[in-house]
Amino acid sequence: MSVEPTAAAQESAPVEVEVHLAAILDLVEPLPVERVPLAAALGRVLATDVIAVQSVPRFDNTGMDGYAVRSADLAGADEANPVSLHVVGEVAAGSAEDPALAAGQAVRIMTGAALPSDADTIVPVEHTAAYRDAHAWAEVGGVVEVVTEPAPGAHVRRAGEDVAAGAVVLEAGAVLTPYRLGAAASAGVGEVSVRRAPRVAIVATGDELVAPGETPARGQIPESNSVLLAGVVAGAGADVVSIARVGDDPADLLAELERLGAEHAPDLVVCTGGVSVGAHDVVKAALDGRGIVFRKVAMQPGKPQAFGRLESGALLAGLPGNPVSVAVSFEVFVRPVLQAMQGLEPTGAARTEAEVVDGWRSPPGRRQYMPVAFDGSGRIRRATGGGSGSHLAGGLAHAQGFAIVPAEAEAVRAGERLPVMLVGP
Ligand code: AMP
Ligand code: MG
Repeated sequence: MSVEPTAAAQESAPVEVEVHLAAILDLVEPLPVERVPLAAALGRVLATDVIAVQSVPRFDNTGMDGYAVRSADLAGADEANPVSLHVVGEVAAGSAEDPALAAGQAVRIMTGAALPSDADTIVPVEHTAAYRDAHAWAEVGGVVEVVTEPAPGAHVRRAGEDVAAGAVVLEAGAVLTPYRLGAAASAGVGEVSVRRAPRVAIVATGDELVAPGETPARGQIPESNSVLLAGVVAGAGADVVSIARVGDDPADLLAELERLGAEHAPDLVVCTGGVSVGAHDVVKAALDGRGIVFRKVAMQPGKPQAFGRLESGALLAGLPGNPVSVAVSFEVFVRPVLQAMQGLEPTGAARTEAEVVDGWRSPPGRRQYMPVAFDGSGRIRRATGGGSGSHLAGGLAHAQGFAIVPAEAEAVRAGERLPVMLVGP
């Protein structure tokens, strides 16, 4: 006989990860667009395509130190039959000179210098008799003996061969990595349109917490969540505008949230701890019934979660307190929020798939995220000395990813392949 679940039981049934994530993302709007100089754009997300203001290379130039020549002059040149050219000038990188070359003439030229209009080819200095014999350059006004016939156009770097002026160098939605910023600078761009960086405040809750490095009294522990979160939040392109620690008094938490709203105008407040059913769960005590949703998510670790919009207008992501839960909850829920705020697809961390070396148990009915490390052949094993225990904060140091075990699985066996969220070096 089937029994209808009571309303209370229905309410407390865990929701799937995707359901919780979708509910959070529903509240997220992409942040406004702003123009910033390249020097301030690292890690930001492009809001519009970047168009090359100028070509790369900007003009025909030499890829070698040597001589700019007219290739027709050097037909048949070789060691036995060197061809002599009169050296009539020199151009170094940055020089605006365009010395004229008549037949039988050459110009000394240094890497990056503009190719003289009358020349079509570069002879590297290594292909001259003086350099071969004495590592010397022929003087301007002297004669250079060329001992190799160059292919016409040799060592000329053509204007626009990499990027044509007017072409798209970077596409909207690209995260501005150092390489991309370098490419934009090469194309003559000095400013880009990016999404404003999300402003994120971090609040660690718990009476038991002391600052890292402080000596804890009996019952106290070092506060580590905010240290981890500050790093991953910044790595996701956001600005950490405040890091605070509050005890388990709801009035203190409410006061801190008010202060944050007034002083830092965060887009997102990430708090840790106090979201479950404990007698001192401060986030729940302070914010339940104030527009913040508290629920269980069918995942391990990370089951209790909270989210919603605070009175200040900031989004709140209330993560559970255990450090491994914090790391997993960040990857599963907060990283996608930061991506959406920056106009990115909220796909979370990059993923791969890998073969499991060791096996382990998994709680049925909850999707498990197991901290794993890769071996030399790309296979994975558990990183935290054995378990997915959410308190194993030290073992987290070895985690390079979280293996994702489907909710229905009760065990993972050696040799199985699992999807892995990549989180570390
Ligand atoms: P809570 O969710 O507040 O019940 O916390 C769950 C567990 O995580 C407890 O053992 C806490 O002591 C621990 N914890 C909570 N916050 C932190 C923190 N910021 N750093 C390290 N451990 C924490
Ligand atoms: Mg607590």
